[in-house]
Amino acid sequence: MPFAGISWSEHGFELVMIDEGGRQTTPPRTFPAGQIWGLVDHLRRTRQVRCVVDSTNGLIDGMLMEAGLPVYRADPGSLPPRPRFGSADARALAGAAVHRFTELTLLDPVKGTLTGRRSEQFRQIARSEQDAGPLRDAGRYVAYGDRSDPARSIALTFDDGPNPPYTGMILDVLARYGVPATFFCVGMRAAAHPDELARIVASGHEVGNHTWSHPFLPDLSERELAEQVERTDAAAGYPAARLFRPPYGTRTPMLMSWLTGRHDGHRLVLWDVDSADWQRPGPDAIAKGVLKQSRPGSIILMHDGGGDRSQTVDALPAIIDGLLADGYNLTLAGSLFPRKEKPHCLGPQPFPEPLSLSPLITGRTPCAIRSRP
Ligand code: ZN
Repeated sequence: MPFAGISWSEHGFELVMIDEGGRQTTPPRTFPAGQIWGLVDHLRRTRQVRCVVDSTNGLIDGMLMEAGLPVYRADPGSLPPRPRFGSADARALAGAAVHRFTELTLLDPVKGTLTGRRSEQFRQIARSEQDAGPLRDAGRYVAYGDRSDPARSIALTFDDGPNPPYTGMILDVLARYGVPATFFCVGMRAAAHPDELARIVASGHEVGNHTWSHPFLPDLSERELAEQVERTDAAAGYPAARLFRPPYGTRTPMLMSWLTGRHDGHRLVLWDVDSADWQRPGPDAIAKGVLKQSRPGSIILMHDGGGDRSQTVDALPAIIDGLLADGYNLTLAGSLFPRKEKPHCLGPQPFPEPLSLSPLITGRTPCAIRSRP
């Protein structure tokens, strides 16, 4: 069965197919980022193929798994250095499967993109918490807002888009209720779908930065991190709110020091309510899970991007109805930061989600993209 190496660059995706002897079986193909579904459909029709991506793969891995294809992740130790902006090239990815197959990780659709790297993620987050003080003191770190807020403010957030048609369908529901939300956009997708991005902004919603290609941040150099964030800012029109959410919620010491060093830089937004919608448990289960976890000040993680988000769309009315019935005031995530004059009023927030819900405990991928992203 051939291997399909799938790389990304600023121009989109490249596909290289080779057989087990390392011979190219078809000419390389390129797909603009706006045609990511075309790439998935092409590979689905190919059927007998094993896909190989790296850990910066632009959300393609979840969509491929959703299509029923086996997806292998090649990590940096098995690959040549990445270019200044992009993944390892497609030929190198497919070649890693031929020459270093045992070093690759077959992604588990339930565990998501970070299959096999959860303990590493946990260590990075734990180490980052030691460096989070300056951001908290500056009022630039939030996992949830004021629990005692009499207004019972709460924020809906949607990650990994824009992703037509689901982003537009979510915007339709939000418009029907007249409630705001925050969209953490992936730069690659924002650049490919400017109309959806413009509609988010024109509808009064908030846009945050979720990197260009949704990489696992521990694999990036500081220069790569800066490029991921700055290019996404540009693609999103330099949103004034200056919000940043790391993919999978993975904070790293380097991210913390980079954010702290930028005095006018981004504010870090995590979450405390995980809808787990990317696992597609059904709209009822998504809605019940969100309503059960929600508390005043909560930041709710959902996804418009990364795959088929029809269950998220279907769950949204019940979520909004339930929150309104419970007296919540839906607001923008950017309004939930602690006020600077009382930097310690919320106390320490050591983890973005209650430990009982932590993906590190349950094995769930927080913002992963599997059937999604
Ligand atoms: Zn994400």
